[in-house]
Amino acid sequence: MPEHARDVHSHGNPEKVRVRSVALDLTASFDARTLSGSAILGIDVASGKDPLIVDTRDLVIESVETSGSGTSYATAKWTIGARDKILGAPLSVEVPAGTSFVRVRYASKPEASGLQWLTPEQTAGKKQPFLFSQNQSIHARSWIPIQDSPGVRVTYTARIHAPKQLTALMSAEHKGAAEGVFDFAMDTPIPAYLIALAVGDLQFQSAGPRTGVYAEPSVLAKASAEFSDMEKMVTAVEALYGPYRWGRYDLLILPPSFPFGGMENPRLTFATPTVIAGDKSLVGLISHELAHSWSGNLVTNATWTDFWLNEGFTTYIENRIQEEVYGEEQAAMEQVLDRRKLDEEMAELPKEQQALHAATADPDEGVTQVPYVKGSLFVRLLERTYGRPTVDAYLRGYFDHFAFRSITTAEMLEYLQRELLDKQAAKIPLQEWIFEAGLPASAPRATSPKLDAVKRDAEAFAATGAIPRAKWSTQEWLEFLQALPPLKTTQAAALDRAFALTRTGNSEILDQWLQIAIQADYAPAYPRVESFLMSVGRQKFIRPLYAALMKTPEGQARAKAIYAQARPGYHPIAQTSVDKIVTP
Ligand SMILES: [Zn+2]
Repeated sequence: MPEHARDVHSHGNPEKVRVRSVALDLTASFDARTLSGSAILGIDVASGKDPLIVDTRDLVIESVETSGSGTSYATAKWTIGARDKILGAPLSVEVPAGTSFVRVRYASKPEASGLQWLTPEQTAGKKQPFLFSQNQSIHARSWIPIQDSPGVRVTYTARIHAPKQLTALMSAEHKGAAEGVFDFAMDTPIPAYLIALAVGDLQFQSAGPRTGVYAEPSVLAKASAEFSDMEKMVTAVEALYGPYRWGRYDLLILPPSFPFGGMENPRLTFATPTVIAGDKSLVGLISHELAHSWSGNLVTNATWTDFWLNEGFTTYIENRIQEEVYGEEQAAMEQVLDRRKLDEEMAELPKEQQALHAATADPDEGVTQVPYVKGSLFVRLLERTYGRPTVDAYLRGYFDHFAFRSITTAEMLEYLQRELLDKQAAKIPLQEWIFEAGLPASAPRATSPKLDAVKRDAEAFAATGAIPRAKWSTQEWLEFLQALPPLKTTQAAALDRAFALTRTGNSEILDQWLQIAIQADYAPAYPRVESFLMSVGRQKFIRPLYAALMKTPEGQARAKAIYAQARPGYHPIAQTSVDKIVTP
C-alpha cells in the first residue's frame, strides 16, 4: 500500500506508527451524557524510536498504558498537545520497542461533536432516550482516541454497555447480546469515520435475506413498507459492479434531528426519517448510501481533499440503481433536479471550492454539490464518451483493484489513464474537470420530457395564474416549485388553496414550498415554518429556510426567535453550520 501525502485534517503519524485495530469497551450513560471505558489500539510493533500520535477532541483521559502481548499493561508516558478549534488535540504516547497495544481509559464529554444525546421528547416514541454517532468527517476523535484519517483503516471490536431496556447497534457484525451488554466485530479494515454507534428503543423488520430495517417501534411499519426494495437494490448494484462485500445491508431510521440525509456506515446505513414519503419517491437516498458500499467504504478517499472520489462515483451509481429499479424516466428526473442544485450553488461558491480536488480548513465545509453532482457528471462524461459497457467494466475493475484501500485523486487518475484513457482514442479534459473551478462545457446534460412539461406549467401559472392539473410525483412537484419566479403573496395563497402545500407530509416538497412562502411573505405558512424547524434537524432543509428568513428584517427576528428555541435540539454539526447563517 503506498504511503499517502500527509492528511492535513489529522494529527496522527501513521507513517511512523500505524494503528491497525481498535477494541472498545464503553458504557453509555444517558444521565451524564458520556461514553466511558477503554480503547485498546493495536499498532504495528513499535521500534521505540517514535511515539504513537492519535487524534482526540475533548476526551477526558484517565490513563494510558502499553503492552507487548496484550495481556499485561504498564503505565505509559503521554502528553496532550494544544487544542485546535477544528482538529482537536493530539495525544502523544511513548511506545517502547516491542509495544503492540496501547490502552487508553477515557470518557467523552457531553458536548462531543460526534455524538448526539436525545431526550425521550426528541424521539418518535417519546418514552426512551436515544444516542447516535456521526463520525464523518473528523468527529470519531470526539469519542475514540484514534488516527482519525480516512487513509488509516482499522478492524474493530466493541462491547457496549447500555440501559437494559435499550438496544445498541454498530456498523459491525453482531457477536451477541445479553441484558444491557452488546458485542460487535468488524473484521474488514475501515477508516474511523465509518465506526458508528446507536442506542435506543429499536426494533427490526426483515426486508430480504441480507437486508432489513431498524427503527423505533412507532416508525417501523411505515419504514419497512417504504424501503421494501432494498434487496432488489443490492442485487442491482452487484450485477453492475461486483459482489457486495459487507455481509448484511441494514438500515437504521434515526430520530428527525439527524443532521444528514443518510450516512453510509458499513452494514448499517443511518438515515433520516424525512425520506419516508409514503410512495417510495425519496428512496434515492438509500440507493446513494448503498452505492457507498462500493465507492467510499470499499474504495475510500485517502484524505478529505479527495472527498469527490467517494461522492462523485456514488452519486453516479445511485442514479444507475434508480434507473435499474425505478426506470429511466425516474433516473432522468433526479439528474435534472441535481443539476439545477449544482448550477445554483456553483453560482455562489468561492472559486477554490468549485474544483473537484479541493481542500477546506474544516472538511465539513467541503460538503457542497460539487463533489457530488459535478463528480457524478465527470463519470457520466466517461460513460457518454466511451460507452456504458466499457465504463461499467472499467468501474468493476476499479473496485476490485482498490478494494479495502484508501486512495488519493492522483492514484485514481493514474489507474484511469492506464486502464481506460490510454486504450481509447477520444480525450477527456482531465485537468479542467478535476482541478479547475466551474463546470466544464463538456458536462453532459440530462433531459426529462416530464419535467419539461411541468416547467411550462410553472411558467403558465406565473404569467396567468392558471392552476395546473397536477397529479405529480415528488420530482415533478420539486421541478414546478423550483421553476417558479418569486411569487406575490396572492399567488402563494392561490397555490396553497389549490394544493394545501403548507400541510403536505412530504418533507422535500414542504421544504421547497416553505422557502417560496417565506419569500412571498405568505403569513399562513409561518406556523408550519416554525414547527418544521423545531422538529427536523436535517441541514439540507433547515439551512435554506433560515437563510430565506434572514433576507428581511422581520424574517431575521423570526429566525432568531425560532433558532433560540430549536438550537438545543439540533446536532452539534447542524448547530455549527446554522450559527453561520443566523448571526446576531
Ligand atoms: Zn454520500
